[in-house]
Amino acid sequence: MGAGRPSGEKNRCGGRWTQARFNSFIKSGLRGLTRRWAPINDVDKAATTKRGFRMCAGCNREVPVTEVRDGKRQKNTFVDHIKAIVDPETGFTTWDDVVERMFCEADNLQVLCYECHTEKSNEERAIAKERRQREKENNNND
Ligand SMILES: [Zn+2]
Repeated sequence: MGAGRPSGEKNRCGGRWTQARFNSFIKSGLRGLTRRWAPINDVDKAATTKRGFRMCAGCNREVPVTEVRDGKRQKNTFVDHIKAIVDPETGFTTWDDVVERMFCEADNLQVLCYECHTEKSNEERAIAKERRQREKENNNND
């Protein structure tokens, strides 16, 4: 097995967790740390047009930081990693790469509105899905 590549086997956390479950556990823990990563706050601050509003780098609109969706007040702006934390074309490589890309400098960060962020995430997810499909086909041919 590669450095943390999921195998489907429950060999983590006393046999309760797969490698994939373990990876998302570590990733969400690291993600929590980004709240204390200054470049993220710097970029958010730089995109602030007035109190409670940010300029979206995707659609160049001034958007409120929260919005009521499905009857609930929800986050409407996101500090996005321009180069995704896990490259959808290659997938998970090493934790070193994840940490390096997650705690990047301001030049790799941008503020996106909900729509632009959702669109970018969906595109990345589609690329990753295609790659996994390709990998699966390659494995079947082995
Ligand atoms: Zn936008």
